[in-house]
Amino acid sequence: QAKKNGRNQYALYHDEMHSDGKQLFQLETALRKALDRGEFELYYQPQLDIKTKQIRAVEALIRWNHPEKGFISPGMFIPLAEESGLITPMSDWIMLQACEHLKQLQLHFPNVKMSINISPIYFQQIDFLEKLQKTIESVNVNPRLIELELTESAVMPHAEQSVERLTMLKTMGISVAIDDFGTGFSTLSYLHRFPIDILKIDQSFTKQLSQYQEDSAIVEAIIMMAHSLRIQVVAEGVETKKQYQVLEKQCCDFVQGYYVSKPMPISELYEFLDMWNHLYD
Ligand code: C2E
Ligand code: MG
Ligand code: MG
Ligand code: MG
Repeated sequence: QAKKNGRNQYALYHDEMHSDGKQLFQLETALRKALDRGEFELYYQPQLDIKTKQIRAVEALIRWNHPEKGFISPGMFIPLAEESGLITPMSDWIMLQACEHLKQLQLHFPNVKMSINISPIYFQQIDFLEKLQKTIESVNVNPRLIELELTESAVMPHAEQSVERLTMLKTMGISVAIDDFGTGFSTLSYLHRFPIDILKIDQSFTKQLSQYQEDSAIVEAIIMMAHSLRIQVVAEGVETKKQYQVLEKQCCDFVQGYYVSKPMPISELYEFLDMWNHLYD
């Protein structure tokens, strides 16, 4: 229901946005107000390590809890935030909130990492690393527990600068994942040029796993290639036991998706991890 509302909402904003600059300004104002009023919330979705059956990480996924319209999905407002410039303060908030939650989480579940989505625009800003460093220091959180998710479109256009930044992140102890892998314009061969730790295979590939032999072959090839580069693989959008079993057979490292759990608020995450540890420890 919320998703349906969200989609209508998007259509509305989208038309307005392209009508004139004033509308874009109004949207920015609306998003800024939402940020000031604390209408955004981070949800967390666990990633399961297939071998150890432990939860290795949680991915932070932003939600807009609109007072009238209910939950609006990030697919609707992130592109608009990027277009209006509000992505910067929004990303500052995401980074801080995720680090603070990680700091608390660490006290109870010391091995669970925090994976944070980074907009290409934010990643390319000149003070990106500096701000990140400051946040980590002010929260006093272990950077080895932080993972950043970047899409191919974030690293590819400015390859040289990206390599530099990714190398810096590595030096800081932060790990990097390439998100939505397979949907970008790049070939597999570019991967070895970037210091990457994790590949996240896009859910469009995972969806086909039970149906088509060819797609299983593609996923298998991605996993083998990644492993030969010492990159670990997460399959996104795993919904069924069948998909899980295929991925296990193909030596995929980690799975994320409704088969394990939907994204949830931080309070529910604690309950989930408690339950999981009771089952698998
Ligand atoms: P993403 O980073 O690829 O996140 C995965 C999306 O797949 C999430 O959608 C998640 O809820 C959804 N998902 C997870 N498991 C399943 C499953 O088994 N089946 C299906 N059908 N879907 C599943 P969500 O939360 O709506 O986020 C959409 C996109 O919005 C994200 O894609 C990411 O690109 C962006 N996004 C979300 N949060 C943030 C954020 O904090 N910052 C930035 N820059 N982007 C964000
Ligand atoms: Mg992601
Ligand atoms: Mg993804
Ligand atoms: Mg995606």
